[in-house]
Amino acid sequence: MTSYRVGETLITGEDLRERVSELAAEISREYGDSNVLVLGVLKGAIYFMADLTRELDIPFELDFMAVSSYGSSTTSSGVVRILKDLDTPIAGRRVLVIEDIVDSGLTLSYLLKNLASRGPESLEVCALLAKPGRGHDQLVRYVGFEIPDVFVVGYGLDLAEAWRGLPYIARLEKTPSDDGL
Ligand code: 5GP
Repeated sequence: MTSYRVGETLITGEDLRERVSELAAEISREYGDSNVLVLGVLKGAIYFMADLTRELDIPFELDFMAVSSYGSSTTSSGVVRILKDLDTPIAGRRVLVIEDIVDSGLTLSYLLKNLASRGPESLEVCALLAKPGRGHDQLVRYVGFEIPDVFVVGYGLDLAEAWRGLPYIARLEKTPSDDGL
């Protein structure tokens, strides 16, 4: 069986704090006085959402959705299911979706189509991380960091529920004993 370990740090805790503050300031400026529904996509977005919303200077409410994407492997399953839906209707509301990472954009496209059909006044996305060259620029309004096309963990991001609590973002590596497999 393949095993993994935490490798090189890609984004330090300090870089995360700085960028989250910048994003919160930008979002506060652009949303002004409108009461925004901040929609966290569980579970990967929880630390980002908690840190970001603490710095928002505008009225907001929180809600959550959970969708399945990767299961316990590091490649996309291509299957998206809603595991937990919103508690509140979003018709006529301004909705800001908070995502941990956009890779192929498959999960997000599915989610946005579903949410758009509920008639929100506006629907935008803030993603902490985005992998480049996947054509998801139109989907995401605010991006924390562009990262290379590697699998990362930490600050909410996991592999099979492990490593979510790391206070930084690191690359996941196969252990040396698995080299050549
Ligand atoms: P997409 O549908 O955009 O390919 O994948 C989005 C979802 O896959 C993310 O919300 C996240 O759950 C998972 N994912 C994609 N890339 C990574 C990664 O590098 N690390 C981790 N931990 N999850 C990822």
